[in-house]
Amino acid sequence: MGILEGKNGLIFGVANERSIAWHIAQHAAEHGATCAFSHLPGEKMEARVRKTLGKGGLDEAWLHPCDVSSDDDLDALFEAYGKDHGALDFVVHSVAYADREYLKPGTFVDTPRDVFAQSLDISAYTLIAISRRAIPFMKPGGSILALTYYGAEKAAAGYNVMGVAKSALESTARYLAAELGERGIRVNSLSAGPVRTLSSMAVGGIDTILKKVEASAPLRRNIETAEVGKSAVYLLSDLSSGVTGETHHVDAGYNAIVT
Ligand code: NAD
Repeated sequence: MGILEGKNGLIFGVANERSIAWHIAQHAAEHGATCAFSHLPGEKMEARVRKTLGKGGLDEAWLHPCDVSSDDDLDALFEAYGKDHGALDFVVHSVAYADREYLKPGTFVDTPRDVFAQSLDISAYTLIAISRRAIPFMKPGGSILALTYYGAEKAAAGYNVMGVAKSALESTARYLAAELGERGIRVNSLSAGPVRTLSSMAVGGIDTILKKVEASAPLRRNIETAEVGKSAVYLLSDLSSGVTGETHHVDAGYNAIVT
């Protein structure tokens, strides 16, 4: 029996085969979970996500469009999920956005109000919006997981407004954990080391960050995205039943040392 056997999960954030959400989904499915997915609206995006799911043998997986910045989209998604599934054991929030114009080293001070608000909305507030709609389907033992990065804790060149959004996301996860604990629902953040994805390539300093981690992390390398998938399975499963409100680093130990 897989450790997620019989569990149903809803995963936000698969864009392509590089996506962290996709690596989490593959590992969750390997461990027995039934995964459902949302994708950014649009025919092209749907086709790309379908193709990705197909490569992992998940052609038949439940898939629904949702722009997480839209309350109407979120309502429609959860209504459809409720009709088709009804039960939810875990949710993965692997979604973030910031205008790449302001993800360049030296541009943080220029961040306009609307860029800041949009980034915080899509990358942090949506954890509340999604959790609120998910809890009616979740039984005690449910697990909600959000993807974050070390730039929430320390200023990382070029990460800029996204770092502020990640700080808000990690704090949001702790407040949700405090409130949802009495329902037996756990909420954690997984802080992944840098990996090359569509989103991370928008961060101006990504190459410098990758090189720095490789040179100085305790494991002397960058992480594989699959390693995020493996650790996520632990956080989504009953193996971590006593863990909530935690930010779990999967970063080759980078956060543990002074660089
Ligand atoms: P990705 O580009 O594959 O995934 C980001 C996802 O966010 C995409 O699927 C995109 O469609 C979705 N998204 C953006 N705006 C949306 C909206 N309004 N509505 C619905 N979906 C929307 O990149 P990724 O690196 O896999 O990112 C996943 C998560 O992991 C993000 O939260 C990111 O910040 C975090 N993270 C990434 C890294 C890294 O180095 N790649 C490190 C730590 C944390």
